[in-house]
Amino acid sequence: MKIPFIDLHKQYLKYKDEIDCEIAEVLNSSIYIGGEKIALLEEKLAKFIGSKRAIVCSSGTDALLLSLMALDIKKGDEVITTPFTFIATAEVISLLGATPVFVDIDEKTYNIDPKKIEQKITKNTKALLPVSLYGQPADMDEINKIAKKYNLKVIEDGCQSFGATYKGQNSCNLSDIGCTSFFPSKPLGCYGDGGAIFTDDEELALKIKMLLNHGQNERYKHKYIGINGRLDAIQAAVLLVKLKYFPNEIKQRENIGKRYTTLLKDSNVITPYIKNDRSSVYAQYSIRVKNREKIIKHLNKKGIPTAIHYPTPLHLQECFRYLGYKEGDFEVAEQISKEIMSLPMSPFLSKNDQDSIVKELL
Ligand SMILES: *Cc1c(COP(=O)(O)O)cnc(C)c1O
Repeated sequence: MKIPFIDLHKQYLKYKDEIDCEIAEVLNSSIYIGGEKIALLEEKLAKFIGSKRAIVCSSGTDALLLSLMALDIKKGDEVITTPFTFIATAEVISLLGATPVFVDIDEKTYNIDPKKIEQKITKNTKALLPVSLYGQPADMDEINKIAKKYNLKVIEDGCQSFGATYKGQNSCNLSDIGCTSFFPSKPLGCYGDGGAIFTDDEELALKIKMLLNHGQNERYKHKYIGINGRLDAIQAAVLLVKLKYFPNEIKQRENIGKRYTTLLKDSNVITPYIKNDRSSVYAQYSIRVKNREKIIKHLNKKGIPTAIHYPTPLHLQECFRYLGYKEGDFEVAEQISKEIMSLPMSPFLSKNDQDSIVKELL
């Protein structure tokens, strides 16, 4: 038995004719950067999310970086975020010379605990950067309320939650700015690196659009110090096809995620806790177990791949040693990082394969 962790090949074969055709169109057009596919994709993404504007860019990391740049986050500023996420979330804060300030997570959802945010706010705090981890939106109402009280901006890191909903609204459309990633293994992935930024603020959108193109407002006129953060036309072509089928894939992801939870109901495994006012796209199906190493070894031996998202919380990473955190600072994040592991997950995981995974797990 050999089950893929995420079945990207099956997905490609399913949409192959259309994807190949769209890519060929780009190749024949000789317009590889910019062009009408980028504009069309931005229009369709904004419509899908329900935001006024969508701006596509080179990656989820750059989406976060550009958002912080657009808000003028700089040296001396503090941005509050979670220590239990992928490195990129906090990396971009540091990259701009600002300080990531960590707040521990909720024991059940693994998202930032809004009850612990206020005590970390100082006169230097400029923004809150919650992550909608594993595909479930963070507690955005509570977070937005705190932001309003202290006049802070909120950026949602929706790199794992594109397609999820919160009280009837789409993730990435729940705060001042929403960011997502189209890395191949994300819920909506392209065939290289890609990302997008969502906002209702036209002025901010315009600035972001300039920042990702070297701060240009017209050719060779540079208003801001920017970056090369553009998405290329081939990735836009892939996304235009995949976006059409994405609503159906969201349903399949949800069915498979819920089926795992049902199959694991009467076991010692702690399954994802999804609050009833929101949905998850199960970017990862992550469970908590006590004897992780033994379980992983057994599953891998049986041809079932696993992953750990994430084995080390960010405050204990070498690159953030300068921030002065130590073991014990965020007990929940530290405990979860010792027990968490992810099972194979994709909209094309068959019932048979899922049954085999669960059988070997229990
Ligand atoms: C994947 C991911 C990113 C970065 O996205 P890239 O497209 O790989 O740069 C940022 N934050 C989170 C939570 C992610 O999962």
